[in-house]
Amino acid sequence: MLMTTMENKDEMLRPVHCKHCGELEYYGEMRWLSGKCVCRDCYKKEYELQYGKLYEWDDLDGPRPNVN
Ligand SMILES: [Zn+2]
Repeated sequence: MLMTTMENKDEMLRPVHCKHCGELEYYGEMRWLSGKCVCRDCYKKEYELQYGKLYEWDDLDGPRPNVN
């Protein structure tokens, strides 16, 4: 394991697996919803379930981490 000091920016771009759907998401893009830390896709789904309406903003769009 490399012992390098990670810059905060790099940490934000670190891919992590969403615990709910298993998809990769950037650490810095994980959202908190109802005490859960979820990826943007899950956040959108949860939001739509909870409020019974479509999530109408585009701030959850954008590139996802690539699976290598
Ligand atoms: Zn997810």
